[in-house]
Amino acid sequence: MAKKRDQNTLYCSFCGRSEREVELMLPGMNGCICNDCAERAVELSHEYLNKISQSQLTDLDLESLPKPEEIKAYLDQYVIGQETAKRYLSVAVYNHYKRLNQKSDDIDIEKSNIIIVGPTGTGKTLLAKTIARMLKVPFAIVDATVLTEAGYVGEDIESLLTRLLAACDYNVAEAERGIVFIDEIDKIARKGDNPSITRDVSGEGVQQGLLKLLEGSVVNVPPQGGRKHPEQKMIAVDTKNILFICGGAFEGIERKIAQRLNTHVVGYGAGNHVSKSDRDKLLHFVAPQDLRSYGLIPEIIGRLPILTNLEPLDRDALLRILTEPRNAIVRQYKKLLDMDGVELVVEDDVLGFIVDKSIEYKLGARGLRSLFETIMIDVMYEAPTMKKKRYVLTREFAERQLSKSHFELLSATHSTSQQ
Ligand code: ADP
Repeated sequence: MAKKRDQNTLYCSFCGRSEREVELMLPGMNGCICNDCAERAVELSHEYLNKISQSQLTDLDLESLPKPEEIKAYLDQYVIGQETAKRYLSVAVYNHYKRLNQKSDDIDIEKSNIIIVGPTGTGKTLLAKTIARMLKVPFAIVDATVLTEAGYVGEDIESLLTRLLAACDYNVAEAERGIVFIDEIDKIARKGDNPSITRDVSGEGVQQGLLKLLEGSVVNVPPQGGRKHPEQKMIAVDTKNILFICGGAFEGIERKIAQRLNTHVVGYGAGNHVSKSDRDKLLHFVAPQDLRSYGLIPEIIGRLPILTNLEPLDRDALLRILTEPRNAIVRQYKKLLDMDGVELVVEDDVLGFIVDKSIEYKLGARGLRSLFETIMIDVMYEAPTMKKKRYVLTREFAERQLSKSHFELLSATHSTSQQ
């Protein structure tokens, strides 16, 4: 017999429980819903919408997708040099599209995750950001330094995928074919060769966790990122088709490469040992075993089959960076002044001066922007009210501007440390 209903009590129209039996009852026009049924309804609608979105994945028709040459040509507009890395990236992205297009009964094309080794400030993040702009799949850049093993302060490995989910409005099916760029992968390398004495917080455990993602498995991702907590609803994401690109400076890896090459030379008695002038070029020879000596576990290295490197930027490259990229700093300033009706002319020796200062202060490509900005600050201040319609930036002016800036402190510390 049906329970007798009290007219002054609210009942859930879905499960029939009374307001006394549930935490919260939400009244509607012709009925009510309790918090449990409301939650379940949300879950079901998410599942349903995901199913729908799976069938509505953006079509990746291989014919119409950019070919490796076109991808590289696009990168060339923004990133100076780094030819090898650009080629590898372009092919990897194109192969990724191919993989996503493959029919299930075909030969199984394995994914080719990439690892890029290169000194800091040589364009790793720039490459990643640039390629992201032309990709037809979701893309996220994440930083490996925020990770630590479960149980320690820091984010869980799975949170690496939160950004990817956010990049495609939590459309799981889209995320499952996206690309993740993991920056600073060297920061999770095992420190030292004897990790067993104390627990290695930022080392092997994190690498084991990462391995799971690289290999391809279904993981539970916290939608808000950060640490998992019991009440948080997780989103299951299959990483089988997600392409991972890892980047790291691997500071000091040249020593490992040199050691390996020298051993090799001694072993075979050849005369081509690594001279000092070749030190800068050593990164060319980076091989999986160097990553291993640096502290990455072999399983991780095995899951990153494509290894490429970025070149250190020489004076010529820095000069080109100032003017050549589509959004080069000099171009940006010309545009800014143009908006005030002022034509900016930068004399050639100003560029050389800025590059030399950036090298002297060991700031690399990153320093170019701040040096240029420091030099231009007074001009930018006066430009909108200036009578002149043309401004010529000379080396003397640039020198004067820098000599009264905080950069002068850098040169002071340099000269005292060199004495
Ligand atoms: P990292 O290798 O440490 O990730 P970034 O990509 O962040 O270095 O480079 C820092 C800045 O230096 C970039 O924003 C860009 O302005 C400049 N830069 C570095 N390398 C290049 C390059 N190869 N071509 C053009 N600009 C570069």
